[in-house]
Amino acid sequence: MPRKLIISDSAGVCFGVEKAVTTAEEVLSQNSNKNVKSFGPLIHNPQVVDILKNKGLSVVDKIDKNEKGTIIIRAHGIPNYQEKNLEDSEVNVIDMTCPIVKKLQFAVKYLSDNNFFVVIVGNKKHPEVIGAKSYAKEGNVMVIKDKNELDTSVLKSKKIGVVAQTTIPKELFWDVVEIFETQNDYDIKAIDTLCDDINNKQIESKEIAKDVDIMFVIGGKNSSNTKEIADICKNVNKNTYQIETFKEIKELNMNLEDKIIGITAGASTPPWLIKQTIDGVLHDK
Ligand code: SF4
Repeated sequence: MPRKLIISDSAGVCFGVEKAVTTAEEVLSQNSNKNVKSFGPLIHNPQVVDILKNKGLSVVDKIDKNEKGTIIIRAHGIPNYQEKNLEDSEVNVIDMTCPIVKKLQFAVKYLSDNNFFVVIVGNKKHPEVIGAKSYAKEGNVMVIKDKNELDTSVLKSKKIGVVAQTTIPKELFWDVVEIFETQNDYDIKAIDTLCDDINNKQIESKEIAKDVDIMFVIGGKNSSNTKEIADICKNVNKNTYQIETFKEIKELNMNLEDKIIGITAGASTPPWLIKQTIDGVLHDK
């Protein structure tokens, strides 16, 4: 048995994910014909997506003109041209885009409409970033993962708007803003589009990771925010493991006896998966 277990208070589902999942469950319970789909995985947690699939939710990545039934837009949002396709179809649309992701989309649109060249700090392959990028005028937006990727020679304007993928660490965003602010020739407008819930998780998880022998970060392998938290923890504690379920801890065949264990979780990890991991670690079940 471990000597001590430290569990992050902020671990687990955020309000955006909770709302998306509970709404999907309500819609599924009201639709006996089960013609309910989500646009992309509703959230980035394979275990929850599987449960919803068993309740009748299928996942699509494009909409047919003749599409019928109900489509739930995922928490990460979708590109504006796909929203337009949805409007033009006959489907009943339930938009579960998180309000903070909406803020990012609006910020990109506002900056672009006001002739700023938009720099999005984030992962260019992430659905949230692909969606947000679509709100800028074509050719007037770039995505960089951090300040090292910033090549100011390719910017088409001295009027620069900077925003961030909601889940990246704060300093990645402000480091990029600082580069522009320290060069006088830019007219810069930075809009903070970061998610406070994720920021709290990152700060708290890092503090816990510093003090434990082993750190477990629970969340989908496809969850960007879980991976960010795991990377932050790994920087201060190399014994950090990102896992989806307790089964993976068993497979690691680790000796947890008399160890101080830290547990945190990403924003799409449900409470039952956290509990299962805690029970498993305590009782090795
Ligand atoms: S992590 Fe933050 S931005 Fe993402 S869905 Fe949750 S509340 Fe919204």
